Amino acid sequence: MNIILLGPPGAGKGTQAARLEAQRGMVQLSTGDMLRQALAQGTPVGIQAKAVMDAGALVSDAIVSALVGERLDGLEERGSIFDGYPRTRAQAEALDQLLSDRGRALDFVIELEVDEDALVERITGRFSCAVCNAPYHDIYKLPKVEETCDKCGSREFKRRPDDNEATVRTRLGEYRAKTAPILPYYEQRGLVHRVDGMASVEEVSAQVDAILDSSISD
Ligand SMILES: [Zn+2]
Repeated sequence: MNIILLGPPGAGKGTQAARLEAQRGMVQLSTGDMLRQALAQGTPVGIQAKAVMDAGALVSDAIVSALVGERLDGLEERGSIFDGYPRTRAQAEALDQLLSDRGRALDFVIELEVDEDALVERITGRFSCAVCNAPYHDIYKLPKVEETCDKCGSREFKRRPDDNEATVRTRLGEYRAKTAPILPYYEQRGLVHRVDGMASVEEVSAQVDAILDSSISD
């Protein structure tokens, strides 16, 4: 099973990827992580990438492809979850080739869809305990006793500076721009499935599982 997981920041992509790793033994492959790992392990592609980066240049598509190939070779029977890759039509075509060279194929592209206004509300309302990091929300989960952490009794809370409307809207715009080049490519082939990313984690998990399990009955 090989899938691409798409969704803007805050849609719950990380939660689903972690769950699929734990429950299905799949491996999340993000280019950033793959690059860090290749550099740390000094793999052939890692050495090549390091030379490019040391020279101040950007890692080319060819190196990214080699990096993905190297990781796929190490997966054996495990499934893959691509995250943040591919980003261009050329990378999408390269991924098809990398997979087919290894007797694999892309099974699904799953997009966690969000209602942008609701996502802004969800993210900008987040805050957490400054002491124990217990999560709270202005609308959905206020402490039971006003301004007192349910878990540790602390009266200090914190908010992430990125959790403001302007930043969230900018990230959503970046996400749309990033996926626009590849979505039509996969839509043409009927691979794209959409899941309501605003639903509860349990509901999103159930919808994702139903998609993944649909290939088994085919
Ligand atoms: Zn606390």
